[in-house]
Amino acid sequence: MYNYWRTNWKKLILGLIVAAGIGLGLYLSGLDTLPQASFSLLGSINSPTSADRVLVIAPHQDDEVLGAGDYIQRAVSAGAKVEVVFATDGNKHGKKEIRHDEAVIADAKLGLTEDQLIFFDFPDGELSSKTEYDQFVVRLGDEIKNFQPTIVITTLIEDEHPDHAASGRAVQTLSTTVAKFTTLFFLIHSDRYPRPIGDASEKYLLPPLKLTDEYDWEVFVASTDEQTRKRAAINSYRSQISLANPILRQLLQSFDRRNELFAKAIL
Ligand SMILES: [Zn+2]
Repeated sequence: MYNYWRTNWKKLILGLIVAAGIGLGLYLSGLDTLPQASFSLLGSINSPTSADRVLVIAPHQDDEVLGAGDYIQRAVSAGAKVEVVFATDGNKHGKKEIRHDEAVIADAKLGLTEDQLIFFDFPDGELSSKTEYDQFVVRLGDEIKNFQPTIVITTLIEDEHPDHAASGRAVQTLSTTVAKFTTLFFLIHSDRYPRPIGDASEKYLLPPLKLTDEYDWEVFVASTDEQTRKRAAINSYRSQISLANPILRQLLQSFDRRNELFAKAIL
């Protein structure tokens, strides 16, 4: 009897040590997102076709490249009709004109011409305030009626930047009231996302664990050329990727990955 309990206590303590070790290992490996090895388990987004009309709504000048720069290139080369709406003027730090001009240069690298870019110019940082948001929904609704997209791409409602969350909310509302289209959401600002942070262009972009229950996450794998041009487009946003702001620079670089990542609402 004595020996039985002593042996089992030893096993229990050993088990606890092993469990704590695994927990610590997961913590230290930064398992905030699905691990790289799980990439092949995710489904793939269909490539756009010539019949598609793709509307990308970027809260700020750079979000369209970060979230959908590869997808936009594929859509353009497939002969789809593509339009980008910039919801805000990007003027938080008095850089409206600079960011406008950077958008034209960056999006040209994706194959878009200036007439495919629409600048709504709502005040940067104010898109979620009631007055601005209501006007934004009306204006975006008109744009959707005009353009008649088959696919709308924008930022996820759970994005921690209020402008990004507002853009997601507006599209979700309009998808049930104005027109029928497929919505693809991407995520930019979220605690401990992406992982690894910074320059790791050979890695995959994977979803944060905390949002894997709410959405189906699907990947869009870039060709080498697409990834190269997306990187050039990111670098065209010189005001955002400047060495003067290393945290923002790292965030931008984190979206130069082998794939893009889109969330679809689980129906
Ligand atoms: Zn943004």
